[in-house]
Amino acid sequence: MPLRPRPTPTPEQLVRIEAGDIYRASGDCICEACGKLYYDHPYFKEPYEFINIVCNGDLVKL
Ligand SMILES: [Zn+2]
Repeated sequence: MPLRPRPTPTPEQLVRIEAGDIYRASGDCICEACGKLYYDHPYFKEPYEFINIVCNGDLVKL
């Protein structure tokens, strides 16, 4: 099974992270856009590895 992609946050995403524009959710939540678990979405490289990006662009702490 391939590893999930590990993007680096874009400058715009970094601004959102620092502004607290993220929320906690269970990794077992289903993404409304693609129907997969939040766990199956990309997550950032360190030091933001606790943040996943779901299809609608939300930044989610699992
Ligand atoms: Zn999705």
